[in-house]
Amino acid sequence: MYIIMLGAPGAGKGTQADILSQEMNLPHIASGDLFRQALEKRTDVGLLAKSHMDKGELVPDEITIKMILERIDQPDCASGCLFDGFPRTLQQAKALDKALKEQGRTIDKAIYIEVPDEELVKRLSGRWLCRTCQTPYHITNSPPKTPGKCDRCGGELYQRSDDREETVKERLNVFLAQTVPILDYYEKQGKLIRVNGNLEMQGVARQIISALTASMSH
Ligand code: AMP
Repeated sequence: MYIIMLGAPGAGKGTQADILSQEMNLPHIASGDLFRQALEKRTDVGLLAKSHMDKGELVPDEITIKMILERIDQPDCASGCLFDGFPRTLQQAKALDKALKEQGRTIDKAIYIEVPDEELVKRLSGRWLCRTCQTPYHITNSPPKTPGKCDRCGGELYQRSDDREETVKERLNVFLAQTVPILDYYEKQGKLIRVNGNLEMQGVARQIISALTASMSH
């Protein structure tokens, strides 16, 4: 299965993709993580992406699409994967459809995790991530057992530079202007599943799993 996780920054796409990826045994493909990894390796793509990420803007479609299509050509994605953070524009959605279609594959479902704006800002400004395994924490909602250390792997926790309040607002604007139109694109294809993301993590996961199970039995 090829599944897309959609939602504003801070909606919980990464967290839910992690849960689903274990539940369904599918690789988790996160475009933002791929850009951050490229930046750590100081590649051209990584350095170019950083200039856009720091401003809360999207990285140009051409670069993003190329990176993702190369990633899904890897053998682990041959029978499916979970997309997290991609597509974010109509052009990306269409390019993904075209590439999958050429190989006789297709997107099965797009899951839209809905969260009110004021909750998104609260979540992002308190977010800390593990540098090693990317597990997210929140200073008040889900703090780590030991401050600054990942419960799962002991890695160092850090705050993303684009989680500052100014950049967060720009990322939300970008989501509304550029990503919201693709909800309609998947809705028209009968692939959109909407879930309430303003619940605790397990409650959101239960909604997603039951909606997917129901859609598969049809
Ligand atoms: P994320 O980790 O998904 O919040 O992504 C962090 C940043 O990476 C975004 O604010 C964008 O600058 C960039 N990015 C991630 N995915 C995409 C995408 N599909 N298209 C364009 N830019 C992206």
